[in-house]
Amino acid sequence: MQKILVVGGAGFIGSHMVKMLGQRGCQVTTLDDLTSGHRDAVLVGDLVQGDMADRALLDGVLSRGFDAVMHFASFIEVGESVQQPARYYQNNVVKTLALLDAMRAHGVQRFIFSSTAATFGEPQYTPMDEQHPQHPVNPYGRTKLMVEQLLADYERAYGLRSVCLRYFNAAGADPEGQLGERHQPETHLIPLALQVAAGRRAHLQVFGRDYDTPDGTCVRDYVHVQDLCAAHWLALQSLMGGAGSQKYNLGSGRGFSVQEVIDTVQRVTGRPMALMDQPRRLGDPARLVADPGLAQRVLGWQAQFTDLDTIIAHAWRWENRKG
Ligand code: UDP
Repeated sequence: MQKILVVGGAGFIGSHMVKMLGQRGCQVTTLDDLTSGHRDAVLVGDLVQGDMADRALLDGVLSRGFDAVMHFASFIEVGESVQQPARYYQNNVVKTLALLDAMRAHGVQRFIFSSTAATFGEPQYTPMDEQHPQHPVNPYGRTKLMVEQLLADYERAYGLRSVCLRYFNAAGADPEGQLGERHQPETHLIPLALQVAAGRRAHLQVFGRDYDTPDGTCVRDYVHVQDLCAAHWLALQSLMGGAGSQKYNLGSGRGFSVQEVIDTVQRVTGRPMALMDQPRRLGDPARLVADPGLAQRVLGWQAQFTDLDTIIAHAWRWENRKG
């Protein structure tokens, strides 16, 4: 039985991962400080509440022995990272280092890291493969790139094998309806649109209609949270099988515009939505679409929920459930 420590397992993607690991027979421990995670989102295994940089706590947890650590605990708001870079470097880099050093002390040699398309910065071409240059344009992206880089050094020096999974736009919710997105405050397009459809918000802001895209709104690659977790599972099995470190771009390979998301939300929910056009949001590239070919070839991974209607239907069920 594989023993896995999931850091940030009470958050959006981490909680789906904990559930999947449990379903696949793993022994799971979640470490989460619950600043943005939710205790009731941890459906399987033990939950240790605490800070991943608390060495005494980590020593206690890691002495249980783990085959691998999956690390989902980070701050993810681009705008906030510009306003408060210190928080981002502290949490996403310094605390991750503390976690890695504790793992090193306890001989845990496999690590799966949640990275992001934001490590690439402004796209030079799309779809974006792993060879695309990485020039992040905000502190959030830089924190994730720094960790990617230090992982390469840690492998050379200490033999730590890692997989960096660069998510494009994580979306959707547990297909069985038990889990979903609960960010506070919410800034992401699909949950915000669903809150408008549900009558919990007056209108949806549309950030820019003057992009060089077919309908003028930004195009993104929305990848279902369940598909992201499936990629983590395959990455874990590759590390367990002795594979070396790797980095993969995770998306469906298909782009949808903000307007297409709005149209789909209206169709799936059957509710009209009030829109408010706004200027462009700072730092938003026109088009971000993954080339997931490497993950497909090496891991055998392919997004299963590529249909935007299904992604939004799952998120809508969750939006209604949480009341
Ligand atoms: N967006 C929007 N209105 C909102 C939130 C987002 O028009 O209230 C747009 C945003 O400008 C981007 C796309 O929706 O083009 C996806 O944004 P989100 O914040 O969901 O994810 P990101 O691409 O920043 O990771």
